[in-house]
Amino acid sequence: MKAIDATYIQKLDQMLQKSAKTVIVTHMKPDGDAAGSTTAMYHFIRQHNGADVKIVLNDGFQRALEFLLDENCRKDICIYSEDPESAAGYIAGADTIICLDFNAFHRTDRLCSLLEESPAQKVLIDHHLYPELNRFSLAFSETGISSACELLYYILMAMPQTGQDARRLPKAAATSLMTGMTTDTNNFANSVYPSTLAMASSLLDAGVDRDYILSCLYNQHSESRLRLMGHMMKDLLTITEDGAAYMILDLETQKKYNVQEGDTEGFVNMPLSIAGVRMSLMLKEDSDRIRVSIRSKKGTSANTCARMFFNGGGHENAAGGKLNMPIQKVEEYIKEHVHIYLTEHEDKVS
Ligand code: 5GP
Ligand code: MN
Repeated sequence: MKAIDATYIQKLDQMLQKSAKTVIVTHMKPDGDAAGSTTAMYHFIRQHNGADVKIVLNDGFQRALEFLLDENCRKDICIYSEDPESAAGYIAGADTIICLDFNAFHRTDRLCSLLEESPAQKVLIDHHLYPELNRFSLAFSETGISSACELLYYILMAMPQTGQDARRLPKAAATSLMTGMTTDTNNFANSVYPSTLAMASSLLDAGVDRDYILSCLYNQHSESRLRLMGHMMKDLLTITEDGAAYMILDLETQKKYNVQEGDTEGFVNMPLSIAGVRMSLMLKEDSDRIRVSIRSKKGTSANTCARMFFNGGGHENAAGGKLNMPIQKVEEYIKEHVHIYLTEHEDKVS
């Protein structure tokens, strides 16, 4: 990771000091990194810059991430689907909007036009490829890092209120940062840099309870989630001759296994454990689209594949996107386009 520019930190500090109304936003369907970075930023601002800070989300947190919400945070969260007027009001009335863990406004779904129209100063803190930098007054963008939480950790450590001492972070912020880094690295399985381990070490030293975090994240699932995982790996997984693995999860199966948001997190990584599999895709039917998750091994670009054929993007080895087509057509589409990608494009573009 590059060193964080001290003038950027100064600018952020001044912005936060001056801001009477601050709003924090993240991408739709927040994952651990999105939930961790927004709540960490919230706790930091609340502690140091007064009380008027709101988190505005397109969708609420999945159940496994609700442990990140304390009483204050619950009061200050506004979810667009539950209260669109307030969400719009907070964004329109903000002096400063902090955008965490996304690279383009459309990733916030229904908040997109509100963000575009808001006159607020906007700050980006993100680790995705190809950020829309011209949209922001101040942008912290770093791709050689595990997560938005790790980037935010180094930003907060550089702030004068913390002075490079993790013990001076609000306890809840430290827990949130450890959580997002843990989920985005798949519990230290990928995208781990020396800076990532240094962060983890300092946060443990500062008293973060990692056992508690792991128990909340990984040991509180439903029985039906594990049974669904078995069904998907046994009956829904196809492996192609080119080294692609894919699984298609339709709404009917989701209903049968009572799938909740977040339940299939991590499933797409599993086929990468097979020798010869270069890329793994999971296609999940939603009410209005098919959500696509892609993971790849080093040397194969999930990001380029997502951009070329799945209307998306992300990181080199972990990306996502969407398809607008009936679920019955998805398998044919994948077979054709993933074959084209792995045989004609992959080696040339990455
Ligand atoms: P996941 O598969 O966990 O949903 O997403 C993996 C990565 O791809 C995340 O970093 C996420 O931000 C990114 N991603 C997921 N869906 C989309 C999408 O529709 N568009 C873009 N640009 N990135 C996406
Ligand atoms: Mn992230």
